[in-house]
Amino acid sequence: MEQALDSDAEPVDDTGLRRTLVAVARQAEALQLVQHSQGNFSARVPGTNLVLITPTGIPYVEMGPEDLVAVDLERNTVRGPHRPSSELEVHCLTYRSRPWVGGCAHVEPPYLNALYALNLRVPNVLGNFVYLFAGRGLAVAPAIRSGTREFAEITLEAMGDHLGVVWKNHGIFCVGHTVRSALDRCVAAEQAAKVYYLALALKRGEPDLVPEGAQEDMVRTAAALGLTRGI
Ligand SMILES: [Zn+2]
Repeated sequence: MEQALDSDAEPVDDTGLRRTLVAVARQAEALQLVQHSQGNFSARVPGTNLVLITPTGIPYVEMGPEDLVAVDLERNTVRGPHRPSSELEVHCLTYRSRPWVGGCAHVEPPYLNALYALNLRVPNVLGNFVYLFAGRGLAVAPAIRSGTREFAEITLEAMGDHLGVVWKNHGIFCVGHTVRSALDRCVAAEQAAKVYYLALALKRGEPDLVPEGAQEDMVRTAAALGLTRGI
């Protein structure tokens, strides 16, 4: 029999997932992808219609697993002592519209933000970026105020079948089968942005990209490993 999926069902043990989510948020700060309480991270609780999301305004160094907010896919708080992230709309809409997604990460990485503020794009300059984004790079969403329903809809429309989308003058939003894989994508995007930025700073012209044949191999390998399953 199928397990009841509504929020009135028996509480599931989400202890491990809460620990993972806090670890991912702290790792993002340690890697300078966010500062203080910037960004937001969420994970679908397997077998339920619930999502755990970071609260708004709590610095990651002070955040514990009990501070996370459990919400349903319609954005109603089910459990938690704080208000959920102000980007709750886009997280919940992602889970509703992409059943394969298990985790989302939003960070505000400086090299990537600098490039996109200049209307440059991160090209396929690093293998890991090709690999984790299935060779498709990043989508770019139109710049409107974040945190609204309209912003969530525009973000996901812009993202299409990409695995990450740039919020210009703000940051990046990535998805994955887990919140860890969503963070891995944020890390890869900022690493490629940094390398591209540094290469441009040498003023020797456009850097070479990953050769096309190698890109195709990476995309095939990522697909065979299930990393890009769902897109
Ligand atoms: Zn933000």
